[in-house]
Amino acid sequence: MKVTDHIAQAKGTLISFEVLPPLKGKGIEALYKHLDPLMEFKPSFINVTYHRSEHVFKKKVDGSFEKVIVRKRPGTESICAAIMNKYTVDTVPHLICGGFSINDTEDALINLRYLGIDNVLVLRGDAAKNETAFEPEPGGHKYANELLKQVVNLNAGIYLEEDLKGTQKTEFCIGVAGYPEKHFEAPNMDSDLQYLKAKVDAGADYIITQMFFDNAKFHAFVKSCRAIGITVPIIPGLKPVYSKKQLTVLPKTFHIDLPSELSSEILKCKTDEEVEKIGEEWLLAQSKELKKSGVPVLHYYTLGKPHVVANVVKEL
Ligand code: FAD
Repeated sequence: MKVTDHIAQAKGTLISFEVLPPLKGKGIEALYKHLDPLMEFKPSFINVTYHRSEHVFKKKVDGSFEKVIVRKRPGTESICAAIMNKYTVDTVPHLICGGFSINDTEDALINLRYLGIDNVLVLRGDAAKNETAFEPEPGGHKYANELLKQVVNLNAGIYLEEDLKGTQKTEFCIGVAGYPEKHFEAPNMDSDLQYLKAKVDAGADYIITQMFFDNAKFHAFVKSCRAIGITVPIIPGLKPVYSKKQLTVLPKTFHIDLPSELSSEILKCKTDEEVEKIGEEWLLAQSKELKKSGVPVLHYYTLGKPHVVANVVKEL
């Protein structure tokens, strides 16, 4: 079922989760162990992130280095299928521009269709570890908007091969990313919002946001979106803080702020167990306020801490 149909049929705020595919060598059981404690909350859908391959330098026996391509977390399509099979829940695979030619993208979309997956979250992806700025694959897309248009085309039965035009159409519900604190490359918020609107005008069905720790920023973002004519559902993305290290890692990686009230409480903690407690309380307060404000879905980035998210959702 499509994310937008879940929202349309809901009587209140829904719950959804986001997971990473297991690391190569770990097996699917690691993911099931992560998801098992969360399934009692009946999530409407589960997102699965996409991780592109990386160039790494491996030391050889003679002391020289060899550049090799490593993909640490393969298999978004198969992970979605495995989750659907085990839990009978809808999944949302993330699809990125990075590392994909337009032919790779079409094949991926056709595979998703065969698997009975109704949703995709289309993203540009970040620069690969060996790049200073994002570089599209030769013959690939430069911005999420271009990838989105390919999905919209396939939904209209327009394939890359002219001969296939008008054959089977896909019916993907398409999500895109939004940034309450601005995407880090955008020169200003207005420009970022205009490109977000372009994604919606091109056919995006809903927006899901980058994590944030200050609800006022989310509400201001929604207001700005509505003011420029973005009418699709906007789903807040939420993540627990659970270690002191995250005080620097989260801003550096995701280009977001942690409110001083939260960071000063974390700084007082002696152990990461104490930080986890503070993070859980903060996430619960954020979730309660967002639910009260009538958001369509509370979307949790569960990454590594399913029990914290479970404790919060239980309290809701
Ligand atoms: P875009 O919408 O293409 O925007 C990128 C930048 O370009 C923005 O600054 C925008 O303002 C600007 N821009 C957009 N269109 C144009 C244009 N036509 N001309 C000029 N400028 C333009 N990454 C992964 O690799 N895998 C994942 O699974 C993943 N999941 C994510 C989930 C969520 C909810 C979010 C918020 C992010 C996720 N990301 C993921 C990270 C994402 O790929 C990065 O944030 C990336 O840098 C931007 O992606 P985007 O789709 O927002 O890009």
